[in-house]
Amino acid sequence: MEEIIRYEVGKGMVGSVRNKVRAFIENGCVVQVGPKSWIVRPIPGYNKTTYEVTSDGSFFRCSCQYNRTKGLVCSHILAVTEYIKMRRLGYA
Ligand SMILES: [Zn+2]
Repeated sequence: MEEIIRYEVGKGMVGSVRNKVRAFIENGCVVQVGPKSWIVRPIPGYNKTTYEVTSDGSFFRCSCQYNRTKGLVCSHILAVTEYIKMRRLGYA
């Protein structure tokens, strides 16, 4: 988590991304739907779109415009990677 967030530092999104990732997790928005695929449901009252995140084992891709057009790590991917980490630790 810390390493990924640092990646965003130059873009001035640290606080907002961190809060958004936390909100996705706390609202149960991240749901695993396949061995290497997840959906990130909208945060109630914040957004209305469900995004799909998939992994090829090394890289994550997201269906959102931010990831598809800019190729940058988005909040949905961060939410999924955090979710995976929490599951490994037994918290989710
Ligand atoms: Zn995304």
